[in-house]
Amino acid sequence: MHFADRMTPIKPSATLAVTAKAKQMAADGLDVVGFGAGEPDFDTPAFIVDALRSALDNGKTRYTPTAGVPALRDAIAAMFTELYKVPFERAEVMTTVGGKHALYNMFQVLVNPGDEVIIPAPYWVSYPAQVRLAQGTPVHVQCDASEGFTLDVDVVRAAVTDRTVGLVLNSPCNPTGACLSEETLGALADLAEERDFWIISDDIYSFLRYDADGAAATALRARPHLRHRIFIVHGASKTYAMTGWRIGFAGGPAELISKMGTLQGQATSNPTAFAQYGALAALQSDHAFLGEWMKQYDARRRRLTALLNDIDGVECLLPGGAFYVFPDISKILERRFRGEVIGTDLRFSQLLLEHALVAVVPGEPFGGAGHCRLSYAISMQDIDKGMARMKTFIDGLQR
Ligand code: PMP
Ligand code: GLU
Repeated sequence: MHFADRMTPIKPSATLAVTAKAKQMAADGLDVVGFGAGEPDFDTPAFIVDALRSALDNGKTRYTPTAGVPALRDAIAAMFTELYKVPFERAEVMTTVGGKHALYNMFQVLVNPGDEVIIPAPYWVSYPAQVRLAQGTPVHVQCDASEGFTLDVDVVRAAVTDRTVGLVLNSPCNPTGACLSEETLGALADLAEERDFWIISDDIYSFLRYDADGAAATALRARPHLRHRIFIVHGASKTYAMTGWRIGFAGGPAELISKMGTLQGQATSNPTAFAQYGALAALQSDHAFLGEWMKQYDARRRRLTALLNDIDGVECLLPGGAFYVFPDISKILERRFRGEVIGTDLRFSQLLLEHALVAVVPGEPFGGAGHCRLSYAISMQDIDKGMARMKTFIDGLQR
């Protein structure tokens, strides 16, 4: 069968693939411990589900405006206004089918063939794929793992060319959990202004931070006067445990949002009508549930990091946000399993899943070879069980 050339470099999403495989193994009756899924293990709060039910009861089953119902757009604008300390209006925000769709629309609207988008590595797997689908070129710059995955502004500066149209910033970061400082974010926004490119600010984990001043450090909060070149990606998935609902939020200059609306109107139309009413209830809530979730994430984060560092050959930083750790396993890759040198993080993940029933995502698809990603959006019991298995597996390898 022949397919369009644009699909040639596109591989299946590694995060979704590992999650699907672990879920399938569990459905087949295997006792898999899944550190793969990038989604909260908490249920969507009942009041959000109730809002969807009442939307259905009230006949909210028809097309809505493409960019979302006005009340939801206003609630997104209010949330952004509070988060970024910059006033947002309805025309500057829209609803999309998940944050992933907001990013997809934005790349389609902003990137011409051959344009470059700078993506700091390690990165979430879908950024380079989406840039390629827009026929752009992803340009990777390396975060410094030895410094807690910080990003050096001069390294980014050296990667800027006349074809640079954007820089992706994701803080807290998937897969490392690292947070960039306000100083770095501000300096990167200044560079964008100086060299005329967009900051693509994926703030989807901005409420999942463990430091006192939570959501403060974002490019827009650091440089409010540069809002004309900052595109915001956010969504309901992570903050409200609504991954399956497929509701994302986008923010930016009204002209860009309107152009994305034009694309969305030809591609997907509105995100599911009744799901929008759930997201509206979520945004308008007091967010009381989040404090309890954050306590649990924090305890799991500390325990998982400690247990990983307890394994000989594994080194793991304590991340500042999201619900991922990204340990360095490069020393283990030199060891042998039943005579075979493990060699790559991909092979390590396969062997760990097959022989220890522990699912982790290999680092290579994130641009972080020699690492693997574990999500701690799972119970403490499962963290303990999975880590005991992983330690036994690694301790059993031949040197
Ligand atoms: N950005 C990052 C960094 C993510 O990890 C995710 C989660 N898949 C998304 C965006 C998009 O999530 P969703 O489409 O579920 O809103
Ligand atoms: N963002 C999550 C992850 O990284 C969900 C899967 C995906 O959309 O990539 O695992």
